[in-house]
Amino acid sequence: QGEWSSDVCSSDLEEFGVTAYTERTRAYIKIQDGCNQYCTYCIIPYARGPVRSRDPKKVLDEVKRFADSGYKEIVLTGIHIASYGKDLKNIGLLDIIKMIHEIDGIKRIRLSSIEPTFLTEEFVKEIANLPKMCRHYHVSLQSGCDETLKRMGRRYTTKEYKSVIDRLREYIKDVAITTDVMVGFPGETEEEFLKTYKFVEEICFSKMHVFKYSRRKGTRAYNFPNQVANHIKEDRSKKLIELSNRCEYKFMESFIGKTLEVLFEQPVKNMEGYVEGLTDNYLSIAVKGDIKLLRNEIFPVKIKEIKDNFLIGEIEGI
Ligand code: SF4
Repeated sequence: QGEWSSDVCSSDLEEFGVTAYTERTRAYIKIQDGCNQYCTYCIIPYARGPVRSRDPKKVLDEVKRFADSGYKEIVLTGIHIASYGKDLKNIGLLDIIKMIHEIDGIKRIRLSSIEPTFLTEEFVKEIANLPKMCRHYHVSLQSGCDETLKRMGRRYTTKEYKSVIDRLREYIKDVAITTDVMVGFPGETEEEFLKTYKFVEEICFSKMHVFKYSRRKGTRAYNFPNQVANHIKEDRSKKLIELSNRCEYKFMESFIGKTLEVLFEQPVKNMEGYVEGLTDNYLSIAVKGDIKLLRNEIFPVKIKEIKDNFLIGEIEGI
């Protein structure tokens, strides 16, 4: 899966050593490596091997260490975290989430990326009842056209994907749903691209990461006929990015006047006197304030307006 954050570090394959972190606010913990899915464009199953899950005891020890050093948010990362536990006995992703949920000091648990097929009604109901779970799910789509999905070797249809998104929105209020979409996959005609465009427009993600397909030697899609010209990929990518920006704005706008809990992290570059942080549903918030007082603290913020890709607000109650 594409990871939603570029600062997720890739740790040692054998050890899954300590992962990346921001300054005492958010720690990235790799719980799994490898993938057995063999999407036709992806080299990872060949390059990184089959699914391997990290020993739950080691995961919990690491989370406890982070909690003891003051980290409040944990991001669970991996190549295909939905497969966590497939190679172990009697444990799955939901179990490890619940164990981490018990650890004092950890206020938020975020998942880096998750397969749509894993988000069953049962799983969504369970996570909706875990208050530390961030209301943010990165559900990789790749294409909104069934024919393209099939050639990509993805294991869901657009109908199945849509019902997963409906389910998340039904059970989790104000949930942020982000995704990856690939344009210019071999054989993607204008008609297929239009299907994708309409599909993602209907879902209106709170953010889309748009990738242009690039050929990887050793993958099945490398030899697929009808490779798409670069200028077409470029054009499709621009269209989707523009749509993504519109949907992102709409999502942000829907929070004006509301109060959200913000974990503050750092001063805003180019905005003198402002400090920024993230909500659990992945909104960037900026307030006027002192970083020394706010860093790594969670405060409720009343949202006032949108400016420079931030929701600007005021802290309530101090
Ligand atoms: S893109 Fe497909 S094959 Fe590659 S890591 Fe994701 S699920 Fe596995």
